[in-house]
Amino acid sequence: MSLDNRPIYTGGCQCGAVRFRVEGALGDASVCHCRMCQKAFGAFYAPLVSVRGARLDWTRGEPKYFRSSNHVDRGFCADCGTPLTFTAPDGVGLAIGAFDNPAEIVPLIQWGIEAKLPYVDSIPQLPGEDTMADMSSASYLADLVSYQHPDHDTEQWPPKERS
Ligand SMILES: [Zn+2]
Ligand SMILES: [Zn+2]
Repeated sequence: MSLDNRPIYTGGCQCGAVRFRVEGALGDASVCHCRMCQKAFGAFYAPLVSVRGARLDWTRGEPKYFRSSNHVDRGFCADCGTPLTFTAPDGVGLAIGAFDNPAEIVPLIQWGIEAKLPYVDSIPQLPGEDTMADMSSASYLADLVSYQHPDHDTEQWPPKERS
């Protein structure tokens, strides 16, 4: 919360070169199945939340933008490729997965369902395993060291020992 009780959200890209801060209420949260969003996120659909009514600041670095149509720019980290923004004439959306706490941003609507991939609805029925359940086939997991930026703001990044 800010001093005047406005909610504060933070987030950024995987490598930490780009960080953002949102102050104020988030707008509609959604997933979009359209082909443009699939491609831009390299994913089955794009999770986005509108920051139209809030204040968005880039607190470290800034996204690079690709103009994906005459009306839309898509922002991403030029260093690591994390998709970050969707900017249309009616405002900016941020990628929900890039927030430090994506669990608190619940999508309420799906867009672009004409392009929904045929297996998306059956994914929750697939068998599921923890990451570490894969140790036998992926022994490198035992001493894996993450270079991903942590899910909170940092004074310095990357850490001294790696920079
Ligand atoms: Zn990055
Ligand atoms: Zn879309």
